[in-house]
Amino acid sequence: MKPLGPIPPGYGADAAGQLSIGGHDVASLIGMAGDTPLFVYDLAMVAARVAALRAAMPAGLEIHYAIKANPFVPLVEAMARMVDGFDVASEGELVRAITAGMGAAHISFAGPGKRTRELEAAIRAGATINLESEREAERALAAADGLGLTPRLAVRVNPEFELRGSGMRMGGGAKPFGVDQARVVPLVRRLVAAGADYRGLHIFAGSQSLDGAAIIETQANSVALAHRIDAESGARAPLVNLGGGFGIPYFAGDKAIDVTAIGAALADWIGDEPQRYAIELGRWLVAEAGVYLTRIVERKDSHGKTFLVTDGGLHHQLAASGNFGTVVRRNYPVAVAGRFGDDAEEEVSVVGCLCTPLDRLADDAMLPRADEGDVIAVFLAGAYGATASPAAFLGHPPAREIAISAVNAAALT
Ligand SMILES: *Cc1c(COP(=O)(O)O)cnc(C)c1O
Repeated sequence: MKPLGPIPPGYGADAAGQLSIGGHDVASLIGMAGDTPLFVYDLAMVAARVAALRAAMPAGLEIHYAIKANPFVPLVEAMARMVDGFDVASEGELVRAITAGMGAAHISFAGPGKRTRELEAAIRAGATINLESEREAERALAAADGLGLTPRLAVRVNPEFELRGSGMRMGGGAKPFGVDQARVVPLVRRLVAAGADYRGLHIFAGSQSLDGAAIIETQANSVALAHRIDAESGARAPLVNLGGGFGIPYFAGDKAIDVTAIGAALADWIGDEPQRYAIELGRWLVAEAGVYLTRIVERKDSHGKTFLVTDGGLHHQLAASGNFGTVVRRNYPVAVAGRFGDDAEEEVSVVGCLCTPLDRLADDAMLPRADEGDVIAVFLAGAYGATASPAAFLGHPPAREIAISAVNAAALT
């Protein structure tokens, strides 16, 4: 037997024992969408998450959403009304952010390898480009010259420190991301001298950390580093983006981070400075609000082991299979949707329909009895799901997606 990850708060069963998401039972959600496999995103849950974060963070701290966590259009549109800015990482995401109603002045464009046409699109739109290298800075300045526009430019710093306990490190040592800390001051001076609209600093040191003390330490280091760069460059960064890295509990034994403690620590350092600060989060805001629903096609025995073979799999939800940024495969939280909250009765493995042994959704898990036609719910599917999975692998159709809100009971697709 292998333990399942923790089912996030906010999910319950209706009177018939069916999993209910945002007040809708799973059968009617599947009816609304037409079929499984299906991602359901609960926008009321996302809104509650944003509100909880705002309550925990110092007043005036900007909250930005990193679109790559979940770019589903109705979710991004709802998010545009809830947060203070978007972080995008491609021209496609830039267009999506603007179309969703986020003002270009509140969009920052990070990511290595920006094509010249992408730099031009950002400059034309008036979005801030978070520069990942000196070379990119020169290309952006040249592109702006060519367009006859003043570019909004910020510098992404590759800090000497990194976020401890982080699932994906994006700072410290040699990195494709950001400008090495020691080379930032001359670059800031160069931008100012070239007449660019200098927008500030972006310091992103890692992702998926459940170590609150490490997040606090990284934010303290980031604030101190921004002050040093300001002092040495003689240019005050109008906005310091402190990154994020807030993790969520995926696996048995994981504990949620205490955002109130992080907010309290941050309030001490950024107190009443004239500088604006932002944090940018993806998964913390949306992961728990998404559920992946997949139907059992066949119940199969092999050498005394039971396999529930589903119509979904890693082509939609790669992370749950253990193949997206994890070293050791562990079980995500899963449940039999029609018997939510029932006691576990048998040990089964839930697999997908792809012809590869990698396609596992739960290994040796204890679940209530489930049969062909029953629906399996895979939780924590709101971030890095549909668009972070190899949808074209094996030629099955893409998963359906719907966004629901408890306030407005209609599907928003
Ligand atoms: C991916 C990314 C994020 C979001 O990370 P999460 O772990 O989803 O919070 C934020 N900022 C940048 C620059 C990123 O690349």
